[in-house]
Amino acid sequence: MLSRRALLAAPALLAQDKPSWAAPVIDIHLHWRHDLRLSRDANLTHMDGCGVSRAVLLTRSQAADAAAALVEKYPQQFIWSVSADITKPEAEILFTQAVRRGARAFGELKFHVAADGPELRRAYALAAELDVPVLVHFQEVDHFPGEGKWSAGFKNFASVLKAFPKTKFVGHADAFWANISADYQEDIDYPTGPVQPGGVTDRLLSDFPNLYGDLSANSGNNGLSRDPEFTHGFLLRHQNKLLFGSDCPCTDGRGANTERAAKRLQGKCVARQTLSLLHRHLKGSPALRKITWENAHRLYRIPPSAAL
Ligand SMILES: [Zn+2]
Ligand SMILES: [Zn+2]
Repeated sequence: MLSRRALLAAPALLAQDKPSWAAPVIDIHLHWRHDLRLSRDANLTHMDGCGVSRAVLLTRSQAADAAAALVEKYPQQFIWSVSADITKPEAEILFTQAVRRGARAFGELKFHVAADGPELRRAYALAAELDVPVLVHFQEVDHFPGEGKWSAGFKNFASVLKAFPKTKFVGHADAFWANISADYQEDIDYPTGPVQPGGVTDRLLSDFPNLYGDLSANSGNNGLSRDPEFTHGFLLRHQNKLLFGSDCPCTDGRGANTERAAKRLQGKCVARQTLSLLHRHLKGSPALRKITWENAHRLYRIPPSAAL
């Protein structure tokens, strides 16, 4: 029998354990981080803490040198994705240069523009031309007063998917996940409760081969937590289109320094939470490995020789 003291200590001990997942994991949504106080690379520290083998580093074009250097130093661990300010005329040059230097994707693109507006349309067209996927943050509801919308208009995104059949889109964030339910009114950021079948996201994933889904952040975790029965079918239905990502703000892969995270994820690592959820739903199914590993390798064209 464990003593009362040991029982009280148990959760902390568990949090220190490095998880061992049933399939290898690539995190397609890790914002590039740099902490000079650490002796070790801050990106690797997060990955090691939550049992992730490989990551797509989301990096602004200003940090392109650092990202390219990190990928060169750790070619087995990192793939690089670039974002440049799409509202500026030099964006196309910056994207093109980054892809020539080895960036494998655009993103995340998070700007106060319309999802079908001219700025994003230019980026969609260039992504197709350079043959890299593009990760877009969709959000209609403010997290704080005056925040404003990001890539507004996801409900009408079918017209974009039709207009850019050669562009591979990866959908992410609040509006992408809230729209798994047909009753989403764009009145709340993270809806809870039962999902009403027939939501825009579910339909677009079924109808358009060029749309993929990023499971990252509170938006993805919340969307997959609200209605377990729906989630099970959704994961199986779109098992070739969904990609594990964390967008985790924690520093150690164990939930440290998450005071500013959404309340339901404070003190937790988003990667661990979402991977646990996927394992609960997909234990023993080939869909698990697809979502945590294979789909991303296909979409980001990571050579088989790099496979672990
Ligand atoms: Zn985002
Ligand atoms: Zn984390």
